[in-house]
Amino acid sequence: MSDQPLKDTQHPSGPVMVRKLKVIVERDLCIGAATCIAIAPNTFVLDSEAKAIILNTIDKDTDEVIIDAARGCPTAAIIIEDDQGNRIFPK
Ligand code: SF4
Repeated sequence: MSDQPLKDTQHPSGPVMVRKLKVIVERDLCIGAATCIAIAPNTFVLDSEAKAIILNTIDKDTDEVIIDAARGCPTAAIIIEDDQGNRIFPK
């Protein structure tokens, strides 16, 4: 279990807003593959259930890096929307 500060301790896997992106990890889909952590280490870490949770340092990863992490997830467990609620990934 990570003791790093989370973006939203009430909602460890989101939804959280970073700039104009809303980031959500579908915990039921997450298999703990950690690809997202390799791509966006400031954004994601695994919790004690091997589910991705969202770090307070998410602001240090660019929008492109966060979207790339979502693209890299083997189960498409990371959902990205814009601030209007439009789906950015997965389409
Ligand atoms: S890449 Fe996907 S399945 Fe793997 S830890 Fe991240 S969200 Fe979970």
